[in-house]
Amino acid sequence: AKSAGGNRFELADAEADARAITRHGLTTALPTALERGEFFIEYQPLVHLGDGSVRGAEALVRWLHPQHGVLGPDRFIPLAEHTGLIVPLGRWVLEQSVRQARDWRERHAASAGTPLRINVNLSPCQLTHPGLVQDTVEILQAAGVAPDALCLEVTESALIGADDALLKPLRRLADMGVDIALDDFGTGYSNLANLRRLPVSILKLDRSFTQSMQRFPADPVDLKIVEGIVSLAHSLDLAVTVEGVETGAQAEQLRILGCDTAQGWYYARPGPPDRLHELALADATG
Ligand code: C2E
Ligand code: CA
Ligand code: CA
Ligand code: CA
Repeated sequence: AKSAGGNRFELADAEADARAITRHGLTTALPTALERGEFFIEYQPLVHLGDGSVRGAEALVRWLHPQHGVLGPDRFIPLAEHTGLIVPLGRWVLEQSVRQARDWRERHAASAGTPLRINVNLSPCQLTHPGLVQDTVEILQAAGVAPDALCLEVTESALIGADDALLKPLRRLADMGVDIALDDFGTGYSNLANLRRLPVSILKLDRSFTQSMQRFPADPVDLKIVEGIVSLAHSLDLAVTVEGVETGAQAEQLRILGCDTAQGWYYARPGPPDRLHELALADATG
């Protein structure tokens, strides 16, 4: 048992080394990856729980690495945040996504569906970058997209304890009509009363809540918590989006609890822009 333990230790050590090497390699490759156009965006539909219609999509960035294949954001966003590349990368994601939204909205206008909206993730580093408001305004104007078509997602943890200087750019964007969503809500320890201070209009309930709806009947305490969050959110005029919906039972449970919008594999995995267009079109005409 002792030698097996030793082997395991060596193996774990070797894995840690390999991970560190990859991390270093990825970090140094990041800037050229942006120049070479190795990043691409997948879109996952946001679905209205009441009528099942597609209302928009969240933009999720990926890296098509020449050696490692497609890498998910969890592999490189932390590295990009560490090196500061997240600012130009985030700006690129915003620009691509807003242009994509314009394209959908034009193609979709003919089918008389609700105009599709686009959700884009914002890293805490982008929040503190002085160019945020101006970049966003310029990107929207250049694409001819109205601010109310855009939702910026900021994690709850990024805004915990946020001072006025941090909130100011978000407030300016919100005043222009951009929606701000509090992402991964429920995973931090924010004071619920604090919500009133934040310029947010949407709560995105973390996947862990959705997961607890998997069992049937769901844990009554979990049900109460979600019910409480939803009623508090609605009393503050916030809409509630739930993420990670994987089954119809979860969707139904969350709809009954009063959640407004849902996202998850049950509806669609993140995919190419044309797929989102097809899904939106199918439910507008079918
Ligand atoms: P997030 O904002 O919480 O995004 C939701 C994540 O859940 C996505 O992972 C999505 O693919 C995944 N997901 C969606 N539906 C389901 C489901 O039904 N079940 C399960 N198990 N997972 C589901 P992804 O694409 O790997 O992104 C991970 C995180 O990376 C995102 O979490 C977000 O925080 C970050 N991220 C993605 N794109 C960007 C970006 O452009 N900028 C920044 N700053 N962060 C990004
Ligand atoms: Ca998000
Ligand atoms: Ca989230
Ligand atoms: Ca998350």
